[in-house]
Amino acid sequence: MKKIRNILLIFVCIISFFFGAKVIRTVSVEDKVTELRSDHFLISYYGIYKNEAQNIASSLESNYNRIRTDLNDPNHKTIRVFVYPTQKDFNKGTGLLNSVAIGTSRGPNEFHFIWTTWFNSIFPNDPIKTAIHEFTHCVQLNILISEAQKVTTIREQGEFNDIFEEKFHNEYPQWFWEAICDYEAGIVNNISVKYGMGKNLTLQELNKSNQIYNVGFTIIEYIVETWGKEKIPMLITSYVDFEKVLNVSEPEFEKGWIEFVRERY
Ligand SMILES: [Zn+2]
Repeated sequence: MKKIRNILLIFVCIISFFFGAKVIRTVSVEDKVTELRSDHFLISYYGIYKNEAQNIASSLESNYNRIRTDLNDPNHKTIRVFVYPTQKDFNKGTGLLNSVAIGTSRGPNEFHFIWTTWFNSIFPNDPIKTAIHEFTHCVQLNILISEAQKVTTIREQGEFNDIFEEKFHNEYPQWFWEAICDYEAGIVNNISVKYGMGKNLTLQELNKSNQIYNVGFTIIEYIVETWGKEKIPMLITSYVDFEKVLNVSEPEFEKGWIEFVRERY
């Protein structure tokens, strides 16, 4: 009986501590929209601490050159970053109603994400990695847009956005778009890889599946370790032309990738 009472007491203490900490956080974070400018980013935030925003800025800056060099990004304007304290705020700020997404990019120079903590999510992921993931979307888009501009005729200039968007949505593989971001942000763990691979999805199927977030890292890892990292920017600008860049067919690639993951994970 005493044992049960003690367990109950510990449980009540943990719950009280959790809610106490949550209240302290809610009243002490930055409550107004605040801006923080670093060399390449302009961060707007509220509902988080100033030192958390500084952490976002310094993490983005310390990955800025590496990712842009890896992917061969041409000149890049200042990137606007919007940080939200809850899913509700994120959905309102982005206009993504009923969304469960934790981040989204808006063109080459803007992205939004949630600063996830134990107080606003059941199993918080690392929000810094989310920021780096979204930044990598901006880099990919910047490369694709500047490549498209090189081949746009004067006659097409006025319709550039429509032409580009149509080609991007129809031809740029969604699995690749996400996989690079998880690779650059280092988003991977063994259990998720095994779970995702257990579904036996093809790349085409991964275009429409959330499993890409479990296995995406390994696809790029396979390319980098087999053909070298200089193939990644070539895959981006060729809209993932396996035959041209890697000299393999898509089924051959898939077979090699599955084999690679089986050995590695
Ligand atoms: Zn993404």
